[in-house]
Amino acid sequence: MAGHKSFIASLILVVGFYCIFEISKLIKTMAEVRHDWTKEQIAEIYHTPLLDLVYRAASIHRENKDYAEVQISSLISIKTGGCPEDCAYCPQAARYNTGVDVHAIMPKEEVVAVAERAKAGGASRLCMGAAWREVRDNRDFDKVIDMVKAVNELEMEVCCTLGMLTEAQAQRLADAGLYAYNHNLDTSEDDYKRIITTRTYDDRLQTLEHVRKAKISVCSGGIIGLGETTEDRISMLRTLSNLPQHPESVPINALVPVKGTPLAEQPRVSIWDMVRMIATTRIIMPKTVVRLSAGRTEMSTVEQAFCFMAGANSIFAGEKLLTTPNPSFDEDMAMFELLGLTPRKAFKNGRPEIKEIKEMSINEVI
Ligand code: SF4
Repeated sequence: MAGHKSFIASLILVVGFYCIFEISKLIKTMAEVRHDWTKEQIAEIYHTPLLDLVYRAASIHRENKDYAEVQISSLISIKTGGCPEDCAYCPQAARYNTGVDVHAIMPKEEVVAVAERAKAGGASRLCMGAAWREVRDNRDFDKVIDMVKAVNELEMEVCCTLGMLTEAQAQRLADAGLYAYNHNLDTSEDDYKRIITTRTYDDRLQTLEHVRKAKISVCSGGIIGLGETTEDRISMLRTLSNLPQHPESVPINALVPVKGTPLAEQPRVSIWDMVRMIATTRIIMPKTVVRLSAGRTEMSTVEQAFCFMAGANSIFAGEKLLTTPNPSFDEDMAMFELLGLTPRKAFKNGRPEIKEIKEMSINEVI
């Protein structure tokens, strides 16, 4: 009888170890960086029962030793409004009457002052946005180059979002020490024409290619709540995850409807949709920084905690996100303390190579 009992105990032990081995193998497989996701595979993940989905994403996220670190990025609009593009969600498009406070490019000194305040508030990255269709080789671009160099000297990761870029312009930004370039896909290729008609999805992908070639870190994600279908969300994630290299950063934005834009009457996105998007992104792009972006003002601390659990590890902080409101640095710091999160330091993945740039005269670049 005693022998029988010890046989059963050994059997339970062996089965237990086998299960743990298989589960850890499964999590390891899940955390593999893949570039061949199918829409069906991503849809299956996206539609997993919510708590199972969060558990799976959290398990993958916890394979990363820095899982409790959250990067704080600050976003500044260096040139606001008057944009010729027609992005249906954007208050900066000249054709919509949104009352946005239009201003020309900011002086470098003001940008540096904002960067210093952001750094003091815990931000390790500064993202400078200009409402342009594309970069032009003119004096304004020279000013951006100077800003990139100046913010770099503050030991912050510098990011720009300036619209479409040529290969040469991307290289010029890289040479000045630009760390990252943001260029969102927004939605799926099929849905793109409903949201933007003044450029194509291919234009978007081409700029991402130019950024990648210049060895600048890629930041590209999307917005939910535009009236897209679930299939559109899945398709956009598939495009991002099947790029030759995953973007180092994927912002997931919830639409902030702005009066005067065509999407002003869109209903608020459900927090559970945000959690699903973040968790799915974390699972299919396990090494990527997933950024909880626009729409945070509408979220409680509990809702944001769910997003961090689902694998978000970056936020935009500061009073404004380009032109829409955002929680303050102090509120964010209180939330970090409550949730046991720490701000991620700059350049954890290495620094950009800064080259001596030959100053060009205006006649050479126009
Ligand atoms: S999202 Fe950018 S490109 Fe589109 S209208 Fe706004 S500023 Fe212009």
